[in-house]
Amino acid sequence: MNYSDENPCPCKSGKSYQSCCAVFHQSQQKPATCEQLMRSRYSAFILQRGEYLLNSYHPDFRGDLTIKQLSEKSLDWKNLQIIDSESLDKTGFVEFKAWFMCDGQLEVHHERSNFVKDHDQWLYCDGIFYPSEKSGTMVSKLGRNDPCPCESGKKFKKCCAKN
Ligand SMILES: [Zn+2]
Ligand SMILES: [Zn+2]
Repeated sequence: MNYSDENPCPCKSGKSYQSCCAVFHQSQQKPATCEQLMRSRYSAFILQRGEYLLNSYHPDFRGDLTIKQLSEKSLDWKNLQIIDSESLDKTGFVEFKAWFMCDGQLEVHHERSNFVKDHDQWLYCDGIFYPSEKSGTMVSKLGRNDPCPCESGKKFKKCCAKN
């Protein structure tokens, strides 16, 4: 996938791709924290960078996954929200919510991912998955007047909460 360096980074950091995840995808730098690694993996899913996804996935946890499988089009990701994160010397975690559209409904993937640092390289190991939520059940938590997480620019109640 062609993605210009000046475009906003797909990880929703608010920075340009160039000054965010691109330096990791292009091996110019290594993520300093597991949050940076997690963000760069989220953008790698969107940009279908299978090689990066494989190399940042701990070999003991990734099973038989191939670069080809990891390069396939992922879900229709809309937004990323980091809820909590900690990077210690050798281990770390990131709790996040990633929003995606499925059959016209906004859904959220809520995960607490575990990472280890091996030879200065953060690697994704595994995660705990929280039950998925659909637009309808998010209403109470999300405030109907809040901006919709699908990034339409509309209020939640006028957008995905309608489903
Ligand atoms: Zn980024
Ligand atoms: Zn929406």
